[in-house]
Amino acid sequence: MADITLALFERAIKTTATTVLRNEHYFSDLDGLAGDGDFGTSLATGFRVIDADLPTIDKSAIGAMLLKISMLCSKHVGGSSGPIWGTGFMKAAMVSKGKESVTLTELAEMIQSAVDGIMARGGAKLGDKTLLDALIPIAETLNAAAASGTTDHAAVLKNCADVAEKAIDETRTLVAHRGRASQVGERSANTPDPGIVAIATILQDWCKEWGIARTPTVAELLQATA
Ligand SMILES: [Mg+2]
Repeated sequence: MADITLALFERAIKTTATTVLRNEHYFSDLDGLAGDGDFGTSLATGFRVIDADLPTIDKSAIGAMLLKISMLCSKHVGGSSGPIWGTGFMKAAMVSKGKESVTLTELAEMIQSAVDGIMARGGAKLGDKTLLDALIPIAETLNAAAASGTTDHAAVLKNCADVAEKAIDETRTLVAHRGRASQVGERSANTPDPGIVAIATILQDWCKEWGIARTPTVAELLQATA
């Protein structure tokens, strides 16, 4: 199978912006259950700029495009999410510097590097009830897929969407230790983390965009993809 091209990354970013803008209010509502209720607006403020700038930003290479996305996240995504999402895109950009397409192995390296960067930037780890609880199993899924030598990229994307959706329920009863939700401690127990829901929603929408049949079951994902 062909490598993963810059055009596919651009389409994924465009789809992500649509997802984030559609869920501006819903993601903020979810954040309001345990946090300060700004997550959806923070993310949408950044992705509104990304959506507008995407047609004209530097597309000489995947890394160049993602570096620009990183800068737009850092500048325009509000709250604690700006540096987190900015760091993730920056780390992925460094691995894909100068490349017009990447292999599945290189994509796995990009996501692993983003995860490592976000962990270092935010000081969170697995089980702290942040978006890392979705991103870490996604990175593991990609690493395993790359190691297996599979060429079925659609199946790999579906597997990533599966682990992201699973993370919503697996972390629901945890108390947040990092991010804004940690400031309310026990109040965060039994509420979904909005960052995890956002990652799962983005992956579900990518599946839909590429015609991969996948039916969500978790309530928040059904709501966010409706
Ligand atoms: Mg918040």
